[in-house]
Amino acid sequence: MTAPTSRGTRIAHIGIAVRDLAAILPFYRDVLGMPEVLLDDADGARIAGLAAGESLVELLEPERTGSPIDKFIEKRGPGIHHVCLNVDDLDGTLARCKAAGVRLIDEQPRLGAEGKRIAFLHPSATAGVLVELSEY
Ligand code: ZN
Repeated sequence: MTAPTSRGTRIAHIGIAVRDLAAILPFYRDVLGMPEVLLDDADGARIAGLAAGESLVELLEPERTGSPIDKFIEKRGPGIHHVCLNVDDLDGTLARCKAAGVRLIDEQPRLGAEGKRIAFLHPSATAGVLVELSEY
C-alpha cells in the first residue's frame, strides 16, 4: 500500500569517484552542459553536483589519504562509487531490507550531506553496487 504522498523510488544521485575534480568537471559541466549544483563536502570528499533532470551526478574527490573515496580509488580506480535511491519511507525500507536478510552498512539511518537521513546497504547484497538510501 502506498501513502497518498508517495513519490516512489527514484535515483537521487550517482556518486563517481574521481582523482582530480578540476580535471573532469569541465567534461560534465561544459561538454555535456549539465548545470552545476553546489553541495557540501562530506565523508572526507569534495563533492561537485551536476544536474541530470531530477537526479544528480556527484563527482567525489578524496580530500585526504585514507578517506573512504581515497581507499576506493586505490583499490578499484576511479569509477562509479555508489548509487543513491530516494525512497518514500526510509525506516520502512530499512526494516524490509533487514527482514529480507539484506546486509546493511548502516543499521540505523544517519545524517548525510545536506542534512538528509541516509543509510547504506552492503554491495554484497546488491549485485556489487554500493547503494545509498535517502529520504526525500
Ligand atoms: Zn551519495
